[in-house]
Amino acid sequence: MTIKVIYITSLSHSGSTLLDLLLNAHSRIMSVGEIKQLPLKWRNLRRDLTSKRTPFMCCCGETVRNCAFWTQINQQVEITSGKSLSELDMKGHSENEFITDNEIIFRIIGDVSKTSFIVDSSKDVRRLSLLKRVPGIEVFPIVLVRDAKGQICSIQTKAARKGWRDASITGSIDQYNEINRKIQTLVKTMPHVKIRYEQLVTQPEITLMSILKPLGLNFEPQQLQWASQPKHLVAGNGMRWQTASVIKTDMRWKHHLSLPERICIDVGTLSSRYPFLGSLDTVLTRVGGSLLALNRMSARGTERRKSDTPK
Ligand SMILES: [Zn+2]
Repeated sequence: MTIKVIYITSLSHSGSTLLDLLLNAHSRIMSVGEIKQLPLKWRNLRRDLTSKRTPFMCCCGETVRNCAFWTQINQQVEITSGKSLSELDMKGHSENEFITDNEIIFRIIGDVSKTSFIVDSSKDVRRLSLLKRVPGIEVFPIVLVRDAKGQICSIQTKAARKGWRDASITGSIDQYNEINRKIQTLVKTMPHVKIRYEQLVTQPEITLMSILKPLGLNFEPQQLQWASQPKHLVAGNGMRWQTASVIKTDMRWKHHLSLPERICIDVGTLSSRYPFLGSLDTVLTRVGGSLLALNRMSARGTERRKSDTPK
């Protein structure tokens, strides 16, 4: 049996967890979430080793280590390869190991879940390029694109919350262009579907149909009841824990981004939206950045003028 790996590739903060959950709710599809993080989750180690937070949770409500599904997968993987889930090469440290390990785990997930359609929402472009070489699986990429203003605003909000100092808007624009260009180059020669976050949240049924049709599957109404379906996603955002199948449209950028910031992002990401402008990428980002800098200087000037005004 050939396993179809439905691979969601996108930038972070583009709605991949929602798409993951909507697909998982189909009777013939199983989603495993961002499986590239599985070894870390199974080891039960956090990057911040001083943290006293609770262990990694599977979204079935158990810790990943205690989840019946992942425990069964681990047992089968150990029997087949002699490795535990924590020892699998899911990130491509060694190409040969990556190919062997991924062939094994997807085959076992297919056997245990009794489905040949498995969603991997790891997003990572390099992982996608390596998965193309794994025998026994057929990779079907879904390119998920979000309006750059929404994606970058989301990153900036997170950066502010976490105190990241190097998350500038121009840096986020560069990243948006670079990753989207890599994705477009990679999927160019593969059958794939491209969808937009804004359409997914407003017209989920139509968007899901466009994904399912090339896979030979039909839309199932229960997909819109995604929160109540059995699920074992190992990573993703907080939507995994939602108990109500409510889709919230995240348009916070409309309130959080100033007009100059919106113009800067729109100008800087022109090359992502119109690939023939690719060679002007850096120039466009710099033009956008300059507009932003000019605006800041002008705002500071206004502030100064205000403070210089005799009271
Ligand atoms: Zn679970």
